[in-house]
Amino acid sequence: MHGTDGVAGMAVTDSEALAALHRVFGYETFRGEQEAVVDHVIAGGDAVVLMPTGGGKSLCYQIPALVRPGTGVVVSPLIALMQDQVDALRALGVRAGFMNSTQDFDERRTVEAEFLAGELDLLYLAPERLRLDSSLDLLSRGKISVFAIDEAHCVSQWGHDFRPDYLTLSVLGERWPDVPRIALTATATDATHREITERLGMPDARHFVASFDRPNIQYRIVPKADPRKQLLAFLREEHAGDAGIVYCLSRNSVEKTAEFLSKNGIEAVPYHAGLDAGTRAAHQARFLREEGLVVVATIAFGMGIDKPDVRFVAHLDLPKSVEGYYQETGRAGRDGLPSTAWMAYGLSDVIQQRKLIQSGEGDEAFRRRAGQHLDAMLALCETVRCRRGQLLAYFGQEPSGENCGNCDTCLAPPDTWDGTVAAQKVLSTVVRLQRERGQKFGAVQIVDILLGRRTVKVIQFDHDQLSVFGIGEELSEAQWRGVIRQLLAQGLLAVEGDYGTLVLTESSGSVLRREREVPLRKEPEKPVTSRSGGGAGRDRKAKAAVAELPEALQPAFEALRAWRAETAKEQGVPAYVIFHDATLREIVTVWPTSVEQLGGISGVGEKKRATYGEGVVEVLAGLSAPASAAAPEAAPASAPGSATGSASGSAPRPAPAASDAYDWPDEEPDWT
Ligand code: ADP
Ligand code: ZN
Repeated sequence: MHGTDGVAGMAVTDSEALAALHRVFGYETFRGEQEAVVDHVIAGGDAVVLMPTGGGKSLCYQIPALVRPGTGVVVSPLIALMQDQVDALRALGVRAGFMNSTQDFDERRTVEAEFLAGELDLLYLAPERLRLDSSLDLLSRGKISVFAIDEAHCVSQWGHDFRPDYLTLSVLGERWPDVPRIALTATATDATHREITERLGMPDARHFVASFDRPNIQYRIVPKADPRKQLLAFLREEHAGDAGIVYCLSRNSVEKTAEFLSKNGIEAVPYHAGLDAGTRAAHQARFLREEGLVVVATIAFGMGIDKPDVRFVAHLDLPKSVEGYYQETGRAGRDGLPSTAWMAYGLSDVIQQRKLIQSGEGDEAFRRRAGQHLDAMLALCETVRCRRGQLLAYFGQEPSGENCGNCDTCLAPPDTWDGTVAAQKVLSTVVRLQRERGQKFGAVQIVDILLGRRTVKVIQFDHDQLSVFGIGEELSEAQWRGVIRQLLAQGLLAVEGDYGTLVLTESSGSVLRREREVPLRKEPEKPVTSRSGGGAGRDRKAKAAVAELPEALQPAFEALRAWRAETAKEQGVPAYVIFHDATLREIVTVWPTSVEQLGGISGVGEKKRATYGEGVVEVLAGLSAPASAAAPEAAPASAPGSATGSASGSAPRPAPAASDAYDWPDEEPDWT
């Protein structure tokens, strides 16, 4: 690999950067914008980098820190994750350290001494440190190669991750005008982008905006019926034994859902701001260290979690904005392997979110903004077009085609139907109640009236005497709820007050007067699963991200995973710090018989080869090589005596390509 150093016309920094990429990280080439960013920063320029989660932001500052003289100082708000970040770097042979409030005096002194002696390549700091004169003084006594401001959107006061300490970071440019600064975030909106540049005082920075597409994530939004049961079925059918995150709106539903999953044989722990710090830290640590654990959480969980093998992110409640949805779902599949973003969405979500905005704090302008965010989110849920396309368009980016082939609306395009008459019936019912009775009711009562149900409440209010009583027997309850949901989403109906009563909007009149049509989305009869697309459905791009492992190689992959788990435990680090799944997959494909042969594998740098090479070769030597392993029927259902071991091995199930003889096990694991 080092042979490229001498290529004519290549700048010195290029070759040094590439050499570090090969030697330290074991990667063949830079990805996307990485190279441009790295070159720019190594040459001393400031940079603002917008890249999706999993896009490879870390290398953008880690390589300059390795190439430029001095220590790279990384500002990160994620104190709880610093130890892991530093451990991961040390496993690569990078001299890294951190300073934060979790350390005792001696530990801090050691790091300070290393920094001053020029023995650190990277130093991680919490932003609040930089308020202290003592920290600034310390930094001025050493040599700094680059300042990296990670999670730079924390400087934005409008985002939910705002950290006041980030506002003081403009001091870095003032005090160290000659040290390049690089601000990084996975938040893609223009507004945040502008705010970062302004508030961090980086007017001369070059801007690097990557594509925000995450082709390996399959987006799916299903109609909400019994969300916990739907979730359970989704996990059992598609993600048995996989690590993932389930997002719920309230602490209470977090607790209940975690309990429900645990009772049903899926290991799950809760995470929300109401738990004490110790429990939260313990659950987060378990998620990072164990394989196949599910965390059920509020949005308090997830920022900076760089676990690469999160195979699914599920939403049981509607996120407040497309930004939120994108951030949360983006935590799946950093390793580029197939992953699912799954959400159950229904009428109750729309009503709940609209109510939250109305009864929440904040002035009129705040409420208006929140309303716009919600509208965009609802539009994504109700779209009949490609979800990925809509998501990218929201961030001002061009989708690569009409159809991504890897979202539910592409895999099973929903039909539309003319819902004009249905809409009129709903709106008429709301009007009658209000005009004839001076009453307002919620969706349940409206549906009961339409269906002509003589419920206690209908009789109590004489609603069976209304002319609209029973005019909607052609649709089912679920269908009526779908109509109301879509009217709310389209702004043709509104929610009012604490009870979520339905009222007309300015636009309702045009429907009642027959001045407009109301096309509605028909829910697909049979929900899409990751397998329903078939090989032909996926486009090339989605396919490229999907590394499929032949079944014959599964046992070796499992053996390496077991070896990795054991090694990680011994060393007290998360398994992915040793090797990512993607690297293990490549190892079994290459089947190295010597430590040297590990050299060309992506993710195996010099240090890791030296540390783990023998272990890996030994594991493979104890197994039969792939040619002979290919013959017998592999029976992956259960390895004797290790139910969890085999379950955790069920990697994501890509839609089988027609030409692939590859078949995922269909049996359900034994959940009793
Ligand atoms: P981000 O911080 O943008 O979410 P990371 O820096 O954690 O992303 O990188 C995401 C994943 O991609 C990591 O597993 C990382 O090791 C891998 N990666 C990054 N750059 C490269 C590259 N040039 N070649 C191969 N893998 C890479
Ligand atoms: Zn699509």
